[in-house]
Amino acid sequence: MLKHDVVIVGAGLAGLRACVELRKNGIDAIIVSKVYPTRSHSGAAQGGVNAAFDKDDSWESHFFDTVKGSDYLGDQDAIEILTSEAPANILDLQKMGVIFNRNDEGGIAQRPFGGQSFPRSCYYADAVGHMMLHGLFDNVLKYKTKILYEYFVTGLSVNNGRVTGVVTYDIKTGKFEGIAAKAVLFATGGYGQVYSSNTNALINTGDGMAVALRAGVPLMDMEFVQFHPTTLKSTGILVTEGARGEGAYLLNSLGVRFMSKYAPKAMELASRDIVARAEQTEINEGRGVDGAILLDVRHLGKERIMERLPQILQLSIDFEGVNPIYEPIPIRPGAHYSMGGIKTDNDGKTLVEGFYSAGESACVSVHGANRLGGNSLLDTVVFGRRAGISIAKYIKDIDYGDFDGSLVKRDEEIFERLRNSKGNERHGLLKTELQEDMRKNVGVFRERSLMENAIKKIEELKERSKNIALDDKSKLFNTDIIEAFEFNNILLIAEVIARGAVLRKESRGAHYRNDFPERDDENWLKHTLARLNGKGKVEFNFTPVKITKFKPQPRTY
Ligand SMILES: Cc1cc2nc3c(=O)[nH]c(=O)nc-3n(C[C@H](O)[C@H](O)[C@H](O)COP(=O)(O)OP(=O)(O)OC[C@H]3O[C@@H](n4cnc5c(N)ncnc54)[C@H](O)[C@@H]3O)c2cc1C
Repeated sequence: MLKHDVVIVGAGLAGLRACVELRKNGIDAIIVSKVYPTRSHSGAAQGGVNAAFDKDDSWESHFFDTVKGSDYLGDQDAIEILTSEAPANILDLQKMGVIFNRNDEGGIAQRPFGGQSFPRSCYYADAVGHMMLHGLFDNVLKYKTKILYEYFVTGLSVNNGRVTGVVTYDIKTGKFEGIAAKAVLFATGGYGQVYSSNTNALINTGDGMAVALRAGVPLMDMEFVQFHPTTLKSTGILVTEGARGEGAYLLNSLGVRFMSKYAPKAMELASRDIVARAEQTEINEGRGVDGAILLDVRHLGKERIMERLPQILQLSIDFEGVNPIYEPIPIRPGAHYSMGGIKTDNDGKTLVEGFYSAGESACVSVHGANRLGGNSLLDTVVFGRRAGISIAKYIKDIDYGDFDGSLVKRDEEIFERLRNSKGNERHGLLKTELQEDMRKNVGVFRERSLMENAIKKIEELKERSKNIALDDKSKLFNTDIIEAFEFNNILLIAEVIARGAVLRKESRGAHYRNDFPERDDENWLKHTLARLNGKGKVEFNFTPVKITKFKPQPRTY
């Protein structure tokens, strides 16, 4: 069995940022990732990362915009940290070699983003995530960090109320191994694959959240799923909000900029939940174009499109067959971001000793019911760094706890059963059924009867998943078996989302219920906490929202 002081699971921005913090202080921290680090979804981030730099801007204004964007569900002490620490964190990245576009004075250029009262999104063309990920990865390499990549984490060892390590499966060899640790950080990203038509990498299957939940760790606010307003109609591939930041319009079939009806001041740059609902309403009421809305960038001109949005240009040509220099791009809302996740405090600590989480797998909560564009990359670096600092302090004076070796056996047996199953179900087909069902029944607009249909479907799929059989029975690089395990993870996450969404009888941020169309602060200004009980059933309780400075107000854009 391997033994390391700190195991960081996940090599996206949150994991790498925490790692740099630990490694530069000489701490024995390793990274475990199911893909090579630079294949993490962070590398797909396009539009920007927020920080108030301009002399006419202020972090206090970023603070308020984020609280308002969260529909008052975000914890304000955490949002204050996110926004006040933002500028120093971006400058840190710059010192580590991350490049941002410049303005005429040579400072960091910033573009407008949705729901923000000032242009404060720092960017690198439309590939900021790629730049940040590679920059941080270089630093992790500089500190000669041990990286176990193509290692899949299946379990979390919890002993006497303390986390003592993880169970890993080496995808290359098919061998299970435990890694004992004093502290474990999950920076495992989101669960976009719960839905069809999503913007996420195929690897975003909520593994960390599912593994934590099974180990008894609660997840917070899972009913809040962000639907991004502009994803390519045919594939769900993202078209960054940066396109609207640069001045793109949304048009319906009548050629009307319909956002004037829904958000007369902010128009296309209202908060994402509002724009996504506006589009879906236009489509539902028959003013869509072939089930989509049109995003028009033509007026920006060829030069600006090629300079600021080169990736969008190419993605539209390659995946939608449309050249945005000459034609509007057909787009529709698509599942994009996980607002909920493993509940942590402002230093990444979860409710279980020795266990930390940061980035999209965590719920601090800074995004509340709706995340603002550009705030997630910021969340990964601010709270990744803070988690690193707090883990360094925690491990200083403690010993290793007892690793629960029975878990390795448990997971080995699960995989062996799968490998030898003679069932007649295929995980790929079950996944498609789940994703379509979640899109239709727990999507942009929700209501009780539809969500109950989704729960019935999930129960059916749980039964059928017992009969999953594999086409590939081998040990070496068997992606069939990994995908089967990932399917079980998204199935569990889907259940938590659907049950939480039925429970929350109000509309707030991204959670909109036709049967409860108003926000209800009297009864629902609180976070949901989901746990698995002894019988494997999802149970909920609540925890209060931290309000420090801004009392809830009506939210208009
Ligand atoms: C297309 C797209 C564009 C975006 N654009 C922006 C933007 O412009 N601005 C912004 O603020 N946000 C943006 N976001 C959101 C933002 O990019 C993500 O929320 C953020 O990068 C997540 O980083 P992370 O480190 O938490 O996780 P990720 O980058 O998703 O990394 C997760 C890591 O966990 C590992 N992992 C997961 N499960 C396991 C397992 N079982 N075993 C081992 N390893 C595992 C993976 O290998 C990976 O290394 C965008 C998201 C998408 C999908």
